[in-house]
Amino acid sequence: MKYVGAHVSAAGGVENAPVNAHKIGAKAFALFTKNQKQWFSKPLTENNINLFKKNCDKYEYEPKHILPHDSYLINLGNPVEENLIKSRKSFLDEMQRCELLGLELLNFHPGSHLKQISEEECLKTIAESINITLDKTKGVTAVIENTAGQGSNLGYKFEHLSFIIDLVEDKSRVGVCIDTCHTFAAGYDIKTEKGYKDTFEEFDRIVGFNYLKGMHLNDSKKDLATRVDRHDNLGKGFLGEEVFKRIMNDPRFDNMPLILETPDDNLWEEEIKWLYSQVGS
Ligand SMILES: [Zn+2]
Ligand SMILES: [Zn+2]
Repeated sequence: MKYVGAHVSAAGGVENAPVNAHKIGAKAFALFTKNQKQWFSKPLTENNINLFKKNCDKYEYEPKHILPHDSYLINLGNPVEENLIKSRKSFLDEMQRCELLGLELLNFHPGSHLKQISEEECLKTIAESINITLDKTKGVTAVIENTAGQGSNLGYKFEHLSFIIDLVEDKSRVGVCIDTCHTFAAGYDIKTEKGYKDTFEEFDRIVGFNYLKGMHLNDSKKDLATRVDRHDNLGKGFLGEEVFKRIMNDPRFDNMPLILETPDDNLWEEEIKWLYSQVGS
């Protein structure tokens, strides 16, 4: 069974996210549990928490199909001590917000070396950040997203993901999220049938499907291996429709949130319908 949804708005309160997801026919959703452009925001109230849970029950969203995303400011591999401390503090706050909401996953981009430390040193710092945070929390899995490799962002190779996972002490609470746009922009040619087959075989060999907790379904405004992160609506970019048909018919992507982060949210309802119509085609 496929659980397709989108990264919906939580404006006015987290409790609005499941309502917005339901409106577009989503069976899964992603959200920011706070303003993604701020380091810290006001704590969730009892009312936010209760209403969020109530609305998830009402519209039948289970925690394993909800994929919250952390703030874009956080860099768990920051080479500057002071900024690393701030990132870790903010990330812990994000994890704790998920705990309060009864959520099980927190999706984040691994981090950037800012050209000040080596890739390896940065990856080690990221793993240490995850360990520190998991130690202080319960029940929430840290879900590392692969990236396009723009600027000094790490996570554009499956080897980066497995390097981090290897250093995480509690393997039961670390996972990964594959973004189709990032994968393609990073140089994995999932557009062709052979490329798709090879890429996911490689993913299984290096990371392992047992760590896959979710997917982001985005087309790409930039071509293969450009290392530029620009999402496009499905079928409108360089990836095209075929890869999404394959994903919808691939049992390796069953029972996990498959989230649209495509730029035109007016098309989400249509995109979700189209994806489901591809099952069995
Ligand atoms: Zn993504
Ligand atoms: Zn992206």
